[in-house]
Amino acid sequence: MAIEISKIASGVQPSATLAMSAKAKELKAQGETVYNLSVGEPDFDTPSHICDAAAKAMREGKTRYTVASGLPELKEAICEYHNTRFGVDYKPSQCVVSNGAKHALHNAFFATLNPGDEAILPAPYWVSYAELIKLSGAVPVVVQTTEQDGFKLTPEAFEAAITPKTRMLLLCNPSNPTGSCYTRDELVALAKIAVAHNLFVVADEIYERLIYDGAKFASFPTVLDGLQDRTIVINGVSKTYAMTGWRIGWLLAPENVAKKVSSLQSQETSNPCSISQYAAIAALKGDQGCVDQMRAEFEKRRDYVMSRIAAIPGMSAPKTGGAFYVFFNIQKFLGQERGGVKIETDSDWCLQLLQQKKVATVMGSAFGAPGYVRASFAASMETLKTAFDRIAEFLG
Ligand code: PMP
Ligand code: GLU
Repeated sequence: MAIEISKIASGVQPSATLAMSAKAKELKAQGETVYNLSVGEPDFDTPSHICDAAAKAMREGKTRYTVASGLPELKEAICEYHNTRFGVDYKPSQCVVSNGAKHALHNAFFATLNPGDEAILPAPYWVSYAELIKLSGAVPVVVQTTEQDGFKLTPEAFEAAITPKTRMLLLCNPSNPTGSCYTRDELVALAKIAVAHNLFVVADEIYERLIYDGAKFASFPTVLDGLQDRTIVINGVSKTYAMTGWRIGWLLAPENVAKKVSSLQSQETSNPCSISQYAAIAALKGDQGCVDQMRAEFEKRRDYVMSRIAAIPGMSAPKTGGAFYVFFNIQKFLGQERGGVKIETDSDWCLQLLQQKKVATVMGSAFGAPGYVRASFAASMETLKTAFDRIAEFLG
């Protein structure tokens, strides 16, 4: 007897970013040298003071269950971090620590969306949002943004997408996959519409420390009075502190939401790894010099990658203002042959680039933007140099 897959699970696609990264790893295991610009994860090691805190916690026997929603000391450190950086006012009872920001997003959607509710998702969007929204039974309503608008949601497009079923807006700032950043004024315009239509906003701010050109980050709940009551902020240590494997992320939400998420998590996973939670305390409370250093290195790489794209005739990309992605337009190259193979779509382009030149990227269609490709510049300068030499060769 074949066990039938549930309707909800049948509708969920695997993560394309992780799938491309797995393909690159498979080629590597076969002995190929692969230039991997697919997955978005810092190539730096986790700073040593953070690893030391984890080792100390382990040696001290802090290896047991913690409170399901996270250690009180960590929740305090998270609130202090947000309150001092942004002038918000969060209490530990509004914070839930989860197994990465991805899990925090799942918890946020699951706790708040009903089947049939509509959630507005500006495209290009990070691969997991649409699938996680669908898992809650709600409907992602994709709103296209344009390269000309820097891939940012305009107030007009936002308002036009609202129906009586709309409950939520998802805003990723800085954006994965486009690297675009909203100014405070742009956020105010969107926030006013959310308030006028009584919507709540999930603000994924996991890349808030990775901002370039001296720009100042505006955290969504701070842009209008009262917004904290209709916002769920998502953040974590994965990107800021090069801690992707430690699996610590969090949400900050109105107390009733945080309370329900705590209950859900106590049934689903219990606490996130106790050792990682001690490491996260050290990350948030320790010397922030490591973050500045990594950010500065990412900015250099951003400049380099933008210059390489600008030098390829027919390719374009808006300037990345934050995060570590560049999202480039490859439409001029579609319909052409490369190495005897006709390239019809962005997926063909990425697969042939991987097969022929051993450079891994992710197709824009996975982010709801066919005709584009995402490259992560969270890779060493040498890797980026060779990868872009090969991309230039591939395009002939
Ligand atoms: N949000 C965005 C925009 C991301 O790019 C990622 C990267 N995986 C996440 C959330 C999840 O991060 P993690 O689960 O590693 O904390
Ligand atoms: N957020 C990263 C990316 O987009 C990590 C992979 C994932 O979780 O999808 O590549």
